[in-house]
Amino acid sequence: MSIKDNLLKIKESLPQNVTLVAVSKTKPLADIQEAYDAGHRIFGENKVQEMTEKWESLPKDIEWHMIGHLQRNKVKYMASFVALVHGVDSLRLLKEINKRAKQNDRVIPCLLQVHIAEEESKFGFDETELLDLIHSGTLDSLQHIEIKGLMGMATFTENTQQVKKEFQSLKRLFDRVKLELPGIEELSMGMSGDYEIALAEGSSMVRLGSSIFGARN
Ligand SMILES: *Cc1c(COP(=O)(O)O)cnc(C)c1O
Repeated sequence: MSIKDNLLKIKESLPQNVTLVAVSKTKPLADIQEAYDAGHRIFGENKVQEMTEKWESLPKDIEWHMIGHLQRNKVKYMASFVALVHGVDSLRLLKEINKRAKQNDRVIPCLLQVHIAEEESKFGFDETELLDLIHSGTLDSLQHIEIKGLMGMATFTENTQQVKKEFQSLKRLFDRVKLELPGIEELSMGMSGDYEIALAEGSSMVRLGSSIFGARN
């Protein structure tokens, strides 16, 4: 099936209120253009340099989401255009994004990443760290950041019960955080291999790469 066919089929299957981020990392401009021509406008990348190069070459009404682990020294390169940063996992990073957003005279929407997987390799706040950050009041002082919600990645496993439990724990935390930050609305969870489980557990935003663009090398 073509990228267009994959995209349209997936879009048709998603609930109306769920946002699809088409993860185009490692894929060439032509692939993104094909998805764009099929009407899609939201793309996710995990490397700042690659995202910036693609932003320069492609239509300017694309919303670029940074979904990967982000180093502080790279924030400045994307601060003028990034539409949503999914993987914010430290206060230091949040402060840097705030600083660069201010220099660009804008507010940058961010999701706080929560560590829900068993794997150590995945990033994010744990539950206590996240609640401490919210209670600290520090977020109020970061006027060029808008916290839009939470993001998490489940363990890479065939065990769907485990994946389900991890998404459930993130949804519970999201509901709890929402009591204190009523403005949050996005729960970014679900990739090609697990997004159906994520949707059943309350995801509002899925990040799909290989199911749209085909396997990566
Ligand atoms: C690569 C990536 C995805 C998409 O992965 P697929 O399995 O190809 O859908 C989603 N989220 C993050 C954070 C990624 O790095």
